[in-house]
Amino acid sequence: MRSWTSPSISPLPASGLPLRLHDTRTGRIAPLVPLTPGTARLYVCGITPYDATHLGHAATYHAADLMRRALRDSGLEVEVAQNITDVDDPLLERAERDGVDWRELAASQVDLFAEDMEALRIVAPETYLSVSEAMDQIIDTVDRLRERGRAYQVETPDAEGEDWYLDLSVDGALGDVSGWSEQQMLSVVAERGGDPDRRGKRGRFDPLLWRAERAGEPAWDAGELGRGRPGWHVECVCIAEGGLGLPFDVQAGGSDLVFPHHDLSAAHAVALGRNFATAYAHSGMVALDGEKMSKSLGNLVFVHRLVRDGVDPMAIRLVLMAHHYRADWEWSEAELTQAEARLASYRAAAALGGRHPDTVEALRAALRQDLDTPSALVALDAWAARAGAADPAAEQAAGETGPDAAEARPGDVATACDALLGLALTD
Ligand code: ZN
Repeated sequence: MRSWTSPSISPLPASGLPLRLHDTRTGRIAPLVPLTPGTARLYVCGITPYDATHLGHAATYHAADLMRRALRDSGLEVEVAQNITDVDDPLLERAERDGVDWRELAASQVDLFAEDMEALRIVAPETYLSVSEAMDQIIDTVDRLRERGRAYQVETPDAEGEDWYLDLSVDGALGDVSGWSEQQMLSVVAERGGDPDRRGKRGRFDPLLWRAERAGEPAWDAGELGRGRPGWHVECVCIAEGGLGLPFDVQAGGSDLVFPHHDLSAAHAVALGRNFATAYAHSGMVALDGEKMSKSLGNLVFVHRLVRDGVDPMAIRLVLMAHHYRADWEWSEAELTQAEARLASYRAAAALGGRHPDTVEALRAALRQDLDTPSALVALDAWAARAGAADPAAEQAAGETGPDAAEARPGDVATACDALLGLALTD
C-alpha cells in the first residue's frame, strides 16, 4: 500500500544515549538494545479501515512516532512495519450496513488515515501492507502452521469448507505477553474478536486462522485450506515476518491489544518455531465523556474533523503530548484550548531565535525515559516563558553560523522539537 509522505526531519545529531522503554511483558522500564546492532525494528499494529482516524488511533501512532524519533536520536536506524486490516468482520459489516463495496470503504478510509498521519507529521512506515495485498504470504503462513501440526479444522455447518484454528495447547504459549489469568482473558476475549464458545474448538482461546468462504463474503483460493479468508492475528505475524524478520525488537499498539491480539500474535510465532517481539509497548485509551473512545460506542472525535474545523494539527499533537503515552486520559475542549495556547507561546519563542542547550537536553532526557512527554512540555513551557532571553554562553559557542547549519547550532529548540517530538514550530 502506498503510505503517506513523511515529514522532513530537522537534522539533529544523535545523542547516542539509549531509549529506556516500558515493556508490558516484564512490567519494567529498560534500555532498548536492538537484536541487530545499529538497527531497531518496530511493528505497529495498524487500523481496520472504517471510522478512521479517531483520537484513540492518533494517540497510538503518535506514541509509535515518538518511539521512532527517540530510537533515531539514540543513534539507531529504525525500520517500522505496519498492517491495514482491510479484510475483517467489522469492516465487512459496516460496508454491508452502508451498502458500499468493502474495498471502496477500505480505500476511502485508508486515504483519510494517510491525510491525518501527514497532518500530524507521523513518519511513514517502511513496510505498509494491507491484508488483501499480503494474502499470498498470509496463506503461506497458515499453511506452514498446518504443516507443523498446529492447525485443526472445526466443523462449519454454514459453509462448504471448514474453518481452521490454531491449537494453542501444542506449544502452551498463551499469556506470554499479558501474563493474565484465564478469568481475565475470558472477560474480554469475546468482545475483542474471539469466539470462546464455538463448538468443536479444542481450546477456548484457540484463534481462527482461516475462515471458510461464506455466502456474500470475500474469499481467496488457498489450496488445502480451501477458499476463505484469514483470521486477525495471523496477518500481523506474517507482515512482521516479511517486513522485519522474526524476532524483532518492539511490538506497539493500544493497550486493548495486549490480549488477545498481542498474546496470540506471539503464540502464532512460537507455533511457527520463532519468537515474536522482544518488548511490547502499549499506549493508553482515550475517553470522551467518561467512556473509552471506541467504534462500538460511537463516541469518536476525528482528527480530520478537527483539522477541517481549523484546529492546527500541531495543537492536536500537543494535546497528545500532555499525557504520558501509557496513561488513559479524556479528551476535552479545555485540553485543546490549553494546547493551542501552548503552541502559540512556543511559536512566539521560536520566532525570537536564541539557543537553549539546557532545554534541548531536558527534551532528550524526558523522551529517552519512556517517552515522558509531559516532562518535555514542562521544559518547553519554561523555555517559552523565558523567551528572548537566550543563553549567552550558548550564543557564543555557536558563533557565526548560517541558518542552514543546524549541526553547528547546538541548543536550537525549534530544531529539537521538530526532530524529537515531531512538533513543527517554524515554517
Ligand atoms: Zn497487529
